[in-house]
Amino acid sequence: MKVAVFGTKSYDKEFFKLEGINTTHELVFFESRLRVKTAQLANGFDAVCVFVNDVVDAETIGILAGFNIKVIALRCAGFNNVDLEEAEKHNIAVLRVPAYSPYAVAEHTLALILTLNRKTHKAYNRVREGNFSLDRLTGFDIHGKTVGVIGTGKIGQIFANIMKGLGCKVIGFDLYPNKDLEKSKLLKYVTLNELLEQSDIISLHCPLTPQTHHIINDHTIWRMKKGAMLINTSRGRLIDTEAAIRALAKGHLGYLGIDVYEQEEKLFFRDLSETLIRDEKMLNLMSFPNVLVTGHQAFFTDTALTQIARVTLGNLTAYENGEELVNKVGSEAIKG
Ligand code: NAD
Repeated sequence: MKVAVFGTKSYDKEFFKLEGINTTHELVFFESRLRVKTAQLANGFDAVCVFVNDVVDAETIGILAGFNIKVIALRCAGFNNVDLEEAEKHNIAVLRVPAYSPYAVAEHTLALILTLNRKTHKAYNRVREGNFSLDRLTGFDIHGKTVGVIGTGKIGQIFANIMKGLGCKVIGFDLYPNKDLEKSKLLKYVTLNELLEQSDIISLHCPLTPQTHHIINDHTIWRMKKGAMLINTSRGRLIDTEAAIRALAKGHLGYLGIDVYEQEEKLFFRDLSETLIRDEKMLNLMSFPNVLVTGHQAFFTDTALTQIARVTLGNLTAYENGEELVNKVGSEAIKG
């Protein structure tokens, strides 16, 4: 298939070229993200390939349908940026990479927790400047703490296992509880309110859907224990950022670690180091010493990039050969 690959970075090209050698697909790489303004680039292609911050809304899909695009191949698991109903209406298949490395994301979640807790980022800078003082580097023992996992799917389960290994009590909340996880004593399911009230560390691993949009808001954040740690490696819009800033400013929220951000489309995956950043909420967040932000890098391991390229190309081949589309995502996925 002739595929227009949008939002391409050097590492995408590298891994797709390596994996694409044995396929018949012709890939053309564009640095621009897909959105209404750039959709013209897809003219003459059979498929588009997109990532988390491409805007595949109804209008964009309308343009793609006009070019007879047959497939939207997501190089990610989340599909909140695609209007699935509109794609279905135009008979465009939406294919994704359901799991490229759930370990990568779960391990990065741990990195955020340990960094926020033990302040290794600050210690690194201090020692390099000859400052060996321990003042204000106090952390807490993670062993024995209660960890709340919201969304106990592939990543949530691996994360629960990691935290169990550190000696934590793990509790979970999921719209569809997995009884096997309780049977294996990995975690105990509780209500969302119980999870908020009991957890010392809360980590978000559910998808972004209409039901989970701002699942962490003024109401839910104030149900959390004073001083608790909140981690989000899932999707930015799960957290109402302004509510988080209010809770941080009042000292209620103890720590915030985010790899995803509500308005990340304007910032992430770009080098803005020589630019004036005008995003007030991000500037506000960065002014707190107990906030750690990474730029959507939880997935970013060589294992995951290989898998993303392999599965994406496999999805396109399956479509071309009329095989069963095991990684197809339909509009029922957002109807809960
Ligand atoms: P998954 O589908 O295996 O698990 C998601 C879980 O969330 C499921 O158990 C589901 O039942 C549950 N869920 C759905 N709606 C819910 C709700 N309203 N309340 C509570 N739970 C709900 O997905 P996964 O592979 O574990 O990935 C989870 C999310 O991680 C993805 O949706 C994606 O947004 C994010 N992600 C982020 C990165 C990154 O680099 N930061 C990489 C990959 C995935």
